[in-house]
Amino acid sequence: SKQINVALIGNPNTGKTSVFNALTGLNQKVGNYPGITVEKKEGICKLPRGVKAHIIDLPGTYSLNASSLDENVVIELLLNKKDKDFPDIAVVVSDVENLKRNLLLFTQIKDLEIPTLLVINMADRMDRKGISLDIDYLEEHLQTKIALISTRKNIGIDKLKNLITNYKDISITPCLNASQIDKTYFDNLRKAFPNQLLYKLWLVITQDVNFGKTSRKEIEAVTNFKTKSKTDLKRLQQKETIKRYQFINNVLKVGQTIDTSQAKDLRSKLDRILTHKVWGYLIFFAILLTIFQA
Ligand code: GDP
Ligand code: MG
Repeated sequence: SKQINVALIGNPNTGKTSVFNALTGLNQKVGNYPGITVEKKEGICKLPRGVKAHIIDLPGTYSLNASSLDENVVIELLLNKKDKDFPDIAVVVSDVENLKRNLLLFTQIKDLEIPTLLVINMADRMDRKGISLDIDYLEEHLQTKIALISTRKNIGIDKLKNLITNYKDISITPCLNASQIDKTYFDNLRKAFPNQLLYKLWLVITQDVNFGKTSRKEIEAVTNFKTKSKTDLKRLQQKETIKRYQFINNVLKVGQTIDTSQAKDLRSKLDRILTHKVWGYLIFFAILLTIFQA
């Protein structure tokens, strides 16, 4: 039976490697991507009903606006359907304390119309930070499945494995319609490439990477449409980021509550304990002083 290709993607320090270890155990190998020094970690995960998944732990990246070799590795894989590692499912690992920033990358990957599963890791920190999540609401509005997990406490890993097994149930509807970024710009592209995903074309143009045979030069040649100047592209990229954060803010406004009074409570408790300690030390020294004087 065929293995399920899984790509683990996420901002740095969200716990990708911890998730990778939880899924693959000792079935891992570490190599390099051809020609570059970026580390490539792969492993096998045994799923329910004898299914196996091939898992890649990709380098940490904040967005698909590539600016480093690490980020390029992620984009090139996601744009190349012919790559033997092209994911059947992208698993975006986020940490519960930085959901807003993490969701930027999630929405970008989801817009490539690959089944994209959201893992919210570090659930063990929610109480302490006064964070609560309406998972049903988030699943509905991000149009995905969510695994709320803690690799530290080994919570939620079985659910994650089940969701990966049933990856075909995950909707591939994009979060953002690319034309929302700039209508005329994308209408031109759509006319020239009626069968291509607009967001993919946009990544090819802005990141100067290829997918299949389509390169930036080719897009220019076919469309007779001059690629915008660097400043124009920057402006479009900013516009994209703003649109994405508007979408994310709206979803989180209802789906996430952060009760700072709970966090504050903890701080005042700490203050009280510290004050007690200070009094303790004072009394202790007063007694010492009395003994020495005596
Ligand atoms: P990566 O950079 O995304 O690969 O993240 P790592 O797996 O290296 O983890 C980054 C840090 O987060 C490490 O210090 C981990 O110990 C910590 N971490 C990972 N998972 C959890 C978790 O579930 N709860 C908590 N509290 N910390 C975690
Ligand atoms: Mg890592």
